[in-house]
Amino acid sequence: MPKIRKAYKVRLKANTEIEKKLVRFCGSARFLWNKSLAMNLERLENRQTILWYHELAFWLTLWKRSDEYGFLKECPSQVLQQKLMDLERAFRDSFDRSQPRKRLPVFKRKGRGDGIRFPQGFKMEGRRIFLPKIGWQGFYQSRPIEGTVKNITVSSSGDRWHASIQVEQTIESVPPPGESEIGIDAGIKCFAAFSDGTLVAGANSFRRHEDRLAMQQGKLSRKKKGSQNWREQKRRISRLHHTISNVRSDFLHKLSTATSQNHAKVFVEGLNIRGMSKSAHGTIEEPGRNVRAKSGLNKSILDQGWGEFRRQLAYKLDWKGGQLVEVDYRYTSQRCSCCGYTGKQNKQSQAVFKCAACGHEENADVNAARNILTIGQTGIACQANRSSGRQQEPARNREGVMPVAS
Ligand SMILES: [Zn+2]
Repeated sequence: MPKIRKAYKVRLKANTEIEKKLVRFCGSARFLWNKSLAMNLERLENRQTILWYHELAFWLTLWKRSDEYGFLKECPSQVLQQKLMDLERAFRDSFDRSQPRKRLPVFKRKGRGDGIRFPQGFKMEGRRIFLPKIGWQGFYQSRPIEGTVKNITVSSSGDRWHASIQVEQTIESVPPPGESEIGIDAGIKCFAAFSDGTLVAGANSFRRHEDRLAMQQGKLSRKKKGSQNWREQKRRISRLHHTISNVRSDFLHKLSTATSQNHAKVFVEGLNIRGMSKSAHGTIEEPGRNVRAKSGLNKSILDQGWGEFRRQLAYKLDWKGGQLVEVDYRYTSQRCSCCGYTGKQNKQSQAVFKCAACGHEENADVNAARNILTIGQTGIACQANRSSGRQQEPARNREGVMPVAS
């Protein structure tokens, strides 16, 4: 029986004393990440090899014994070790050729991705959790938490503390996938275009929130830095950030769930192709052409969470016995989905595709999606993206919103 992992995000009922501890532990973990990262970046600059987990863990024991960094002793050891492992993973990913989008890890700032993860030593009982060196903690949760708890990540957003509880569940049975096959392209004018002609408008619902964000940030700039009002405004903004990421996460989860329920095989453009033909650097044949226009394009795709959508689609299809297939074909936007003619003169504008050979006219994104499907179905330029064995957990679900499994 297949096993899946998913995360429940709950809000902690932390009191002031516990909050103080959490702030200190997060601070120590962030300090360790930043210090180890700085060491490695310096080594890279001097063309030395990177320090991996074991060397860094050795440094950690030295730092703990020192007067200067002795404060690290206070933080649970596993939490610090986990940070070093995360750093190792981040470095490995950034050198991984199959993940062209990954960049070198960056320094962490207070309150931004500097949560602490407890890989063990925790306990759970009803609506409370026990964390090492912190103790028992109540949390707000309406849905029961099912499955075996694998790890717990604690993070703050604004003035609230959350725990992301990752569990492993055994799925009873995977329904046999249907026959339906579809191609999807990341749209230019829309979030995604499906080969059946469906256009998904994108998370425009959070445009409204973004406008509010801009307004609130304007207000912040007019307040005196460090003042009571300024801090209040800061909190307001951070809550709004949180709302926006929830709206976006909700949008992506709904779309990926619906897609994985309705189709057995989903074809998307290969990441290498995306990384190559659509990166601002251009390709070997066309170095850096249209840098400005293309970087704008990349940014909007990234903004709208295409990568996250794909990732969700891959594991949700996997859960259901379906498949995400990458199509490594460069000319999906220049090919006519009707007659197959491929040429530069085909594409008239970003919005409308017009074939120079047969005169076929279609929404440019739908045309590309149809090409992805056709080329995918012939299987020439494909690689299946299905992971085998234990299925991928939504590990980078930063928002920790629970993916819908049914
Ligand atoms: Zn044509």
